[in-house]
Amino acid sequence: MKNENNLKTFGAGHTIIKQGDEGHSAYIIEEGSVDILVEKDNGLVQLIGTRGPGSLIGEMALVDNKPRTATIKAIEDCTLLEITKNDFESRLSSTDPVVHMVMNVILTRYRDMITRSHILRAPQNNTPSEDLERNFLNDTNAVDEIKLTNDLKKSVQNQDFILHYQPIINTQNNAIAGFEALIRWNHPTKGLIYPDAFIDTAEASDLITEISRWVVKESCEFLSRMQKQFPAFNKLFMSVNFTAKDFDVPDFKDFILKSLKHNNLTADQFHIEITERLLMDDPTNAQNALQSCRESGLLISIDDFGTGYSSLSYLHAFPIDILKIDRSFITHMEHDKSSQGLVSSIISLGHNMGMSIIAEGIEEEAQHEALKKLGCDKIQGYLYSRPIPENEMIKFLQAAS
Ligand code: C2E
Ligand code: CA
Ligand code: CA
Repeated sequence: MKNENNLKTFGAGHTIIKQGDEGHSAYIIEEGSVDILVEKDNGLVQLIGTRGPGSLIGEMALVDNKPRTATIKAIEDCTLLEITKNDFESRLSSTDPVVHMVMNVILTRYRDMITRSHILRAPQNNTPSEDLERNFLNDTNAVDEIKLTNDLKKSVQNQDFILHYQPIINTQNNAIAGFEALIRWNHPTKGLIYPDAFIDTAEASDLITEISRWVVKESCEFLSRMQKQFPAFNKLFMSVNFTAKDFDVPDFKDFILKSLKHNNLTADQFHIEITERLLMDDPTNAQNALQSCRESGLLISIDDFGTGYSSLSYLHAFPIDILKIDRSFITHMEHDKSSQGLVSSIISLGHNMGMSIIAEGIEEEAQHEALKKLGCDKIQGYLYSRPIPENEMIKFLQAAS
């Protein structure tokens, strides 16, 4: 048996799980197929099912410490993804307590059913446990999530990510003011994956903190290269997206400051982008962390502004430098008077509170014109450029200089 990360391989005919043994892991079949066999009290061995790729096997080990209720053998060469009890428990303990309790009750009842049905049911029919198993364990969402986490873990080790950059433009004179760094996962087999498909998983599994460090380092190096190659541009800034988990890292701020210094950049060239929701979910923690970042000269930017439920007066309590008006308001501005009114009041109230305003998702010239009239400071959107890799950004900057 070979072990690589938590992938295990078993040759054809090998026993993966032995009935009666203690179990500490479940497995997801990545490749190959297995037989599930149960030895009865009279010594007869019954084949109760076979399983192929995507199936979860040996899952009861995750629930309790009872001996294995079945033997599982590889029919052909198999590759299995191991889920240890420790791993499962740490995921379960970080979930909502109600989900935790319901999971435990369901799984315990499920074990009882399996044990009883092995004794009662004829081998050739589908047992109730198998039917239940099909519904419950082929819960593809959960399996996909575990696979995604596993792939992500490997990709974090291999740094299989790239950054695309989107320019942020000065509304009044169209000059380039800075960039937002947007991550893409260069998946070894599936190609480029966009962040909406993996950031939540990265956050749930704590992999986000490692990813964010990579983004900080990489984007500071990029900005430094651009400033050297295009000295005619004034100081440009880099805006990076963070999640709540990032603030739990003790050297979060110091790592950013170090990366900036290392690349001859100043603190005011870095924008920390967070959502309104992050502020509201843990106001005290967020306030302290942001205050400390701000005291070091980093700028704080509120992303997707307007989509949360906070009021501008509530925001007053936080050290905020920039509001980024969410794309949805910009999209509806032209035809919807209330969106227009909202954009207008965010801009004037934000300005009164000493904040600078960036509008996101500008796709049409008319939107630029309207925002210019309203006094919006900066704009970002497909009208100027989609997020692009460094080689394309160099061409973009050459054309602009
Ligand atoms: P976001 O921070 O709101 O980023 C803006 C998203 O809108 C980007 O999608 C961008 O490609 C897209 N966009 C920009 N201009 C336009 C436009 O004119 N029209 C339209 N329709 N879309 C536009 P993307 O790159 O897929 O990123 C999605 C989200 O993933 C981001 O939303 C952000 O929340 C998150 N994200 C991206 N990179 C990172 C990262 O490095 N770390 C973290 N934690 N989150 C990230
Ligand atoms: Ca953003
Ligand atoms: Ca946004």
